[in-house]
This record gives sequence, C-alpha cells and structure tokens, in this order.
Amino acid sequence: MGRLVVAIDGPAGAGKSTVSKKLARALGYRLLDTGAIYRAVALEATRQGVSWDDARTCAAIAKGLRIDFVFEGDANRVILGGEDVTEAIRTPDMSQGASRVSAHPEVREALLALQRRLGESGGVVAEGRDVGTVVFPDAKAKFFLTAPPEVRARRRYEELRAKGYEVDLDATVAEVISRDQRDETRAAAPLKQAEDAVVIDSAGLNPDDVVHKMEQVVRSRERSG
Ligand code: C5P
Repeated sequence: MGRLVVAIDGPAGAGKSTVSKKLARALGYRLLDTGAIYRAVALEATRQGVSWDDARTCAAIAKGLRIDFVFEGDANRVILGGEDVTEAIRTPDMSQGASRVSAHPEVREALLALQRRLGESGGVVAEGRDVGTVVFPDAKAKFFLTAPPEVRARRRYEELRAKGYEVDLDATVAEVISRDQRDETRAAAPLKQAEDAVVIDSAGLNPDDVVHKMEQVVRSRERSG
C-alpha cells in the first residue's frame, strides 16, 4: 500500500491544524505544518530587527532557516535553531507577521525546496495555503477545508482565549478577515482551491467527522495508487 502526500489547504480558522494532526495520527503519517515555517521566518525577522516588509532580508532568513518538527505526545513541537518556539510562533502578532512575510515571492521561493524535502518520502499530511496547488501539485489526496468567516473567527477567538490572551471577538473577526484577504489576493501562490481538491465545509462538523471523511478518501487512494 502506497504512502501518499496528503495536502490540506484552507483559510485561517477552518480547523486545518486540529484535523491535520488527527488525520496524520490516524494514518500513521508525519505532519508537515507549513504555516509554522512562515511563522518561524516572521519570528526570526522580529528577533533580528528586520521589517516584515523587507522581502530580500526575509528571504535570506528563510533560506538559512534551521527548522525541525518533533512529535511529542499530542503536540507537534517546532524547533528553530535548537530552540523550542512552539508557543512563540502562535501569538496573534506572529499570525500577522507570517501573513506579511509569506506575501513576498522571494520568501515563498526560498521555502519551496525545504517544504518539498520535508515531504518527499511520502507518508505525510501537509497543511497550509498552497500545498496542493504549488508545493505538492502531484499530491494524490488534496483537501480544501473551509468554513464561513464568522465561524472561523469565533474558533480563533476561543482558541486564543483558552491560551489566556485578552482578545475581543470583533478584533479577531477583523484579524481573520484581513489575513484571508491578504492570503487570497497576493500575487504569489494565493490561497485557492486546487481543481482536484475535495472541498469540505467544517461548519457544523466536529473534527472527528472531518478526519473520518478524509481518512476514507486517503485509504481508497492508497489502495488505487
Ligand atoms: O496556517 P497558519 O495560520 O499557521 O499560517 C500562518 C500564515 O502563513 C497564513 O496566514 C499565510 O499567510 C501563511 N502561509 C502561506 N502558505 C502556506 C502556509 C501558511 O502563505 N502554505
């Protein structure tokens, strides 16, 4: 039975990270969280005092990025240059930073080889915004996970509150909408559905239902591939 590349794209708050983690576990696959890579570039830029708008320097940071993923129980720890940055990259500030640095074609190009290397052996669930369209266009199973903006903003809000952030719902809605808009309208690899993606609207579904649907698709493609 072949071990595939599974690509999951979709906007912020659609449930990609929860579902990808559970799906990887159910399939016995690795998880490739490409958003974490863009977040790591934003974090590194901030630490070096580099503006997120400085495409060339951000691309240089992206090229030199030393990033590792370590599965630890239920968590996918992100190690940047030997330091655990799992929490540091998840702040609302780094969400915006990732979205800003990811709009530069030079940064995307610099990260392409790294992402492909991390997925090349198959047996991987890759999640992001362009994994099915650009990074792994030949992936055998592609999903586009989405939900209406209010649903996605409410999830993001609850997630941040649970982590102890003092956020308000209106600001979170605005943040999610501005990030979607930037991700969808950028010239380089904008967020869009791959033609051969299975579209799943996660509103009203719990993560296990979504994972179950996806697992069925992946298992049948494993058999036919
Ligand atoms: O998925 P996550 O919220 O961690 O992604 C953070 C940001 O990184 C996204 O808003 C998007 O701008 C960018 N990103 C991207 N391409 C990917 C993954 C993430 O542009 N494949």
